[in-house]
Amino acid sequence: MAKIGINIKGGTLEKPDAVVGIDLGTTNSLIAVVGENGEAKVLGKSNDVIVPSIVHFDESGTAIVGNTAKLALIHNPETTIYSVKRLLGRSYKDIAKHAAFFTYRIIDDNEEQMVRVLVNDKYYTPIELSAIILSELKRKAEDALQAQVSKAVITVPAYFNDNQRQATRDAGKLAGLDVLRIVNEPTAASLAYGFGLDPNHQKTIAVYDLGGGTFDVSVLRIEAGIFEVLSTNGDTSLGGDDVDRGIVDHWLQSLNIDPESLSRNQFSELRLLAEQAKISVSSGNPFSGSFENNNILVALNFDETTLNQIVNPILDKTLVCVKKALLDAGVQASEIDEVVLVGGSTRLPQVSAQLKSIFKASQINNSLDPDEVVALGAAIEADVLAGNRRDILLLDVTPLSLGIETGGGLMDVIIPRNSKIPCSAAREYTTSVDGQVNMSIAIFQGERELVAENRKLVSFELRGIPAMPAGFPKVKIKFLLDADGILRVSAEELRSGVKQEIEVKPQYGLSDDIVESMLIDSLTNAQTDLELRALIEAKTEGRQLIYTAERFISKNSQMLSAAETMESQKLIQALNEKIASGSRDEILAGIDTLNEYTKPFAERLMDIAIGAALKGTTII
Ligand code: AMP
Repeated sequence: MAKIGINIKGGTLEKPDAVVGIDLGTTNSLIAVVGENGEAKVLGKSNDVIVPSIVHFDESGTAIVGNTAKLALIHNPETTIYSVKRLLGRSYKDIAKHAAFFTYRIIDDNEEQMVRVLVNDKYYTPIELSAIILSELKRKAEDALQAQVSKAVITVPAYFNDNQRQATRDAGKLAGLDVLRIVNEPTAASLAYGFGLDPNHQKTIAVYDLGGGTFDVSVLRIEAGIFEVLSTNGDTSLGGDDVDRGIVDHWLQSLNIDPESLSRNQFSELRLLAEQAKISVSSGNPFSGSFENNNILVALNFDETTLNQIVNPILDKTLVCVKKALLDAGVQASEIDEVVLVGGSTRLPQVSAQLKSIFKASQINNSLDPDEVVALGAAIEADVLAGNRRDILLLDVTPLSLGIETGGGLMDVIIPRNSKIPCSAAREYTTSVDGQVNMSIAIFQGERELVAENRKLVSFELRGIPAMPAGFPKVKIKFLLDADGILRVSAEELRSGVKQEIEVKPQYGLSDDIVESMLIDSLTNAQTDLELRALIEAKTEGRQLIYTAERFISKNSQMLSAAETMESQKLIQALNEKIASGSRDEILAGIDTLNEYTKPFAERLMDIAIGAALKGTTII
């Protein structure tokens, strides 16, 4: 029977801890829970359900997450961290090709180690940065549910390797969450659609997930409450960000602007404008904006034909992956019952249009909000693990083969890709030199024949093998892959019983000790951090508004009457004073007043800019 606590102070019954599902996305993150009615729902107020996965550090080093942090992207790109999921569990070597994409400092002094990010003279690991985002989601859920949130299921792309999964788990732990399970995003999506909840149904489905930074496709068979992933495929560096970059390139080219001449701030601003243009045009609305370069306001236009030109080559790559996944699963496109669309970028109309070259329109299902499905499914999985539904069982597969290095640097696969997990497999090896007493065992993940092309997870030594002639010892190496896709390896010399075991994680994860001490730190400071954060968020928003308003007034003085300029300056001064010494509420009130007063000015300018853009001219 569940135990219900009593709050002695208030004399009320305490709510039991909530168990939540979290979609920790490259661009956006969401948190969801299964409510008392048994339905999964995302948490947060209607306009802030989606938390941009962005962390901004202000001058004092305090972290701000989400929409407020997104505002800082333009003016403080070096202290505003986005797409951290692309760095999670990765070394500099892994991401070097994409390093130019990041406007913040990524440290490249040790290519083999987990990357670090330098912000205001302080180093952060992607695990810490992800933990900051997870803490924000946890707080949001606690606010919404008025209950403690301590247990969670977190989703990862099906293609995440062991290091990336472990890093995600560490981030959860650091945020004070007991991570019940790391679940593949396509598995969560199919749960959200309710597939598998009826034990009499059998379905074969394809999950097409195109987000901000990653693309995954998985083929699943669901039968009698069992979810079996038949195959997975994808690209960890493909998504809406690429479309945004394509739009920026298009603008620079068509406006004859040398990319080298732009500052980091200008790049960030263009990136945000590109995303706005994409969303606007893909939702059927025309886009026109403006961008300041060398003191000249340049009109930016964007239309559907250009969007499709940029999007189509990206979607072509996804279709190649879809075909490979079907082939790996051994199913024909016509045998797929439903193609489920997940991820914000599936709102691009071209996605459904292109998928129709493989599937029939009736197979494509996008009835749920593509942003929410993964979080909703994670919540259902959390509910299952909390013991509330006994009718569902989850079977996943490992996306990449796991093996060890043998003579000549070859990969010897022990657990092949697409094996169902949890699972274990073992193989026997022997020594190559007479009297060899130690054997070094290097574990790799990947599909290539040479280990040099695969990812090294860890290596260890089996010591103390009794001296025997070469080829005589029998060393059994056993791999055990748990339900999260995390690997444990044991090596045993069978003649002597010498044995060693290792859990694969130290190279990229944080040690338990470090995680624990960071956790204690964050718990000790939780309440003060919370209040400080609220105040700092308000100050940042205020400063951002003052910056914009002042810039606006100095650039467009001819548009404003003398009285309007004076009144604006008075309100700016008042807000400045509140920022210097006022409370959070006073600052917010100052923001509202200034905002209300200056809003009509911006509309006035917009009319002029649109007029000029329609004429295709450059305005000063
Ligand atoms: P996700 O990673 O699933 O949160 O997806 C985020 C991506 O979806 C970002 O690249 C967004 O720009 C993109 N996105 C969101 N809404 C739309 C839309 N209406 N049309 C095109 N892309 C969108």
